[in-house]
Amino acid sequence: MTTKIHNFSAGPAILPQSAIDASIEALKDFSGTGLSLIEVSHRSKEYEAVVAEATQLVKEILNLNDDYAVVFLQGGASLQFDMIPMFWLGEGETAAYTNTGVWASRAIKEAKLFGKVDVLASSEDKNFSYIPKNYQIPTHSKYFHCTSNNTIYGTELFSFPETNGVPLVCDMSSDIFSRTIDASKFDMIYAGAQKNMGPAGTTLVIIKKSFLEKRASRVIPTMLDYKIHIENGSMYNTPSVFAIFVCMHTLRWIKSVGLEAMEIRNKEKADLLYAEIDRNSLFEGTVAVEDRSRMNVNFILKDKSLEAEFLTFCESKNLSGLKGHRSVGGLRASLYNALTVESVQALVDAMQSFEATKKS
Ligand SMILES: *Cc1c(COP(=O)(O)O)cnc(C)c1O
Repeated sequence: MTTKIHNFSAGPAILPQSAIDASIEALKDFSGTGLSLIEVSHRSKEYEAVVAEATQLVKEILNLNDDYAVVFLQGGASLQFDMIPMFWLGEGETAAYTNTGVWASRAIKEAKLFGKVDVLASSEDKNFSYIPKNYQIPTHSKYFHCTSNNTIYGTELFSFPETNGVPLVCDMSSDIFSRTIDASKFDMIYAGAQKNMGPAGTTLVIIKKSFLEKRASRVIPTMLDYKIHIENGSMYNTPSVFAIFVCMHTLRWIKSVGLEAMEIRNKEKADLLYAEIDRNSLFEGTVAVEDRSRMNVNFILKDKSLEAEFLTFCESKNLSGLKGHRSVGGLRASLYNALTVESVQALVDAMQSFEATKKS
């Protein structure tokens, strides 16, 4: 075996070992078929069982009742930036958005192609280092769109605004299944798999059926029509066979841990790292303390010239993926579900050793 690497990558990201092991097995022999997972028909009964179980697990873990439909689509979270306004935002109608980072900005940009966009609040004035809070959602809005976790900046929305009947749509790409949520508050949730759920290649979409009926009147191309994908159980066309398989195994693991326990563990990991950032004389956090994400921890070296040296030091200790996003720089440690407390402790130890080398 190769040395254990502590994987702090923001995405694609760390997955539970059980999902990786099951994938290796299935690449050799999928479900006793004698065929590899990547050469079987998606219409085989063995594979249909995978999609059915993955869908069912999402419903169970999030406590979704039959008012909700769950599908696995392609095109990443980014295609949802288009599919959502295309499907729901009629010409002349207005949708409300908050601008809390690059992904939210992209969602806003695409929505403007289809209708009017009301940007209720933005944290762009301080490089997206906080979550804006004081805004009202106009009741005439077709829907309200927010991003629950801003992957690039390390801010997270810990309480969702009261929408007063306006449908709530949320990009949960980087914190889905990391904590308990009251899913019944949401009309639409989407998440690219590659942050906390699986490999790249599929996007989880959850839609309240009553919201489906509120679609805009424009013509929707078949492949971009949520209803078609729902009616066909994610199998209108060939789904992302491998990605959904890995998601199913990750979801089995999430279910076995439980969302409450996952949340406690994620909080413990984040608290451990933030405490060290605040204690250590060399580092500082970059976002408003009350909005600090438990999934993506952004921090910097007070003396920026030490950054490259610190990253090299981390590599030597098998700590990988700590360089900040190319648009913001600095450091970012992603602490997704599958990352262990031991990995966070290894990073904390490295930060302390690095501090000691600078003091002597
Ligand atoms: C990564 C990410 C995206 C983009 O996802 P793709 O699957 O690459 O399109 C969108 N939103 C958030 C919050 C993300 O973290």
